Amino acid sequence: MTTYDYDLFVIGAGSGGVRAARLAALDGKRVAVAEEYRVGGTCVIRGCVPKKFMVYASDFAHEFEVAKGYGWTIEKASFDWPAFIHAKDVEIARLSGLYVANLTKAGADLIHGRAVLKDAHTIEIPDKNLTVTAEQILIATGGRPWIPETLPGAEYAITSEEAFHLPELPRRILIAGGGYIAVEFAGIFAGLGVETTLIYRGPNILRGFDDDVRSHLADQIQRRGIQVILGCEHEAIEKTSTGLLNKLKTGMEIETDVVMFATGRIPHVKGLGLEAAGVELNERGAIKVDDYSRTGVENIWAVGDVTDRVNLTPVAIREAVAFVETAFKNNPSRVDYADIPTAVFSQPPVGVVGLTEHDARQKYGKVDVYMSRFRPMRFAFVGVEERTLMKLIVRAEDGVVVGCHIVGPDAPEMIQLAGIAVKAGLTKVQWDATCAVHPTAAEELVTMREKYVETQLTAAE
Ligand code: NDP
Repeated sequence: MTTYDYDLFVIGAGSGGVRAARLAALDGKRVAVAEEYRVGGTCVIRGCVPKKFMVYASDFAHEFEVAKGYGWTIEKASFDWPAFIHAKDVEIARLSGLYVANLTKAGADLIHGRAVLKDAHTIEIPDKNLTVTAEQILIATGGRPWIPETLPGAEYAITSEEAFHLPELPRRILIAGGGYIAVEFAGIFAGLGVETTLIYRGPNILRGFDDDVRSHLADQIQRRGIQVILGCEHEAIEKTSTGLLNKLKTGMEIETDVVMFATGRIPHVKGLGLEAAGVELNERGAIKVDDYSRTGVENIWAVGDVTDRVNLTPVAIREAVAFVETAFKNNPSRVDYADIPTAVFSQPPVGVVGLTEHDARQKYGKVDVYMSRFRPMRFAFVGVEERTLMKLIVRAEDGVVVGCHIVGPDAPEMIQLAGIAVKAGLTKVQWDATCAVHPTAAEELVTMREKYVETQLTAAE
């Protein structure tokens, strides 16, 4: 029988890789993890976590405005970008350290260096002059930002990765893209007082989200001071003596200090030695895996963004758990991708779970829609016009709530809980049987009585 140095070798110490390594090591397996950058991966080092700190930092400006209406006098609020970036980096370093501690406590070997596959069982870490063998290999290398490199002047643009470490807060920024990252960073910079422009090639931001969510959010972020330009792409970026000139295909020219591309992320597969090991990519350049995260090579597996399934941290973690169950515990497990709640930390934020109205109509034919737009009492009190949107999509046939969409303060917190009800397949009658918590915004979710479409028809008659 062949003996290997390790039972499991994990490439990439992000959310998926660390979870798999830790669980396998705690189960008594001999595990090594290679990481070329910092332990924690995109989520902890340059994604969800630092982004959320930036959203918190930025949102204070709006809070100060609201506070005035409640009788507060704010003499002189000012923001110290370098101080914030330093504090954020200290916290990120602490969290990364916790990941390292948890890995080593579980008994896994952590190898700092880039790992390259030599064949289906052999891994080389050239930085460390090391070659090891493993029975099972898990690739969890995540993704990296993609920018349209052929665009003239693309070299002047940054991505979200650099946005976390800008030496100073720019006076003007243009963000290209209409997805999660574009919308979140536009909110962050606008909140911090940066003159912010968002350009997006499509008819409205957040393609794939419910149309009412998209239009409501586009309207709200413009109220928060973001200039949103739709149906628009770059022709070129030129450096001038005073900044960067964004030449747009519409003929418009906008000068800013920073240009950030948030035009998607691609699987991080370059230089991994996949060919040598016989691992195939799919048409989108992601590692091809089956429902159990196994590649075409029996002992090589992949989880998380490198497989480009649902690119969210909690999903990568679930895939990692299912992988350990399948590969080491004789319990073949697949991840259930239905009804995954998700949040966009725009300002105001978005929380959604289940189907959009469009998709529900496609899938089920007849659906009932319940929708409410209202001023949260906290804002109404001070005359702030910002509105919350709540929308429920109900399958007409049996009354099951198949989609819940919220735009407004605390939407991400609310959707985690609403997600339980959608996942459990509860009916609108059951939602409504739940007593409201008063006074909250969330109570609207259990008190919407009139069908939206009917309301509209009645109003039109
Ligand atoms: P997204 O896929 O969400 O958005 C990419 C955007 O770039 C889209 O608006 C897309 O337009 C646009 N785009 C793509 N190619 C071009 C091009 N050639 N020219 C102009 N625009 C282009 O990617 P993000 O980078 O925002 O985020 C990556 C992923 O990370 C997300 O999908 C999400 O899974 C995850 N994420 C999750 C977060 C969260 O949970 N809060 C936060 C941040 C990221 P179009 O729509 O027309 O294709």
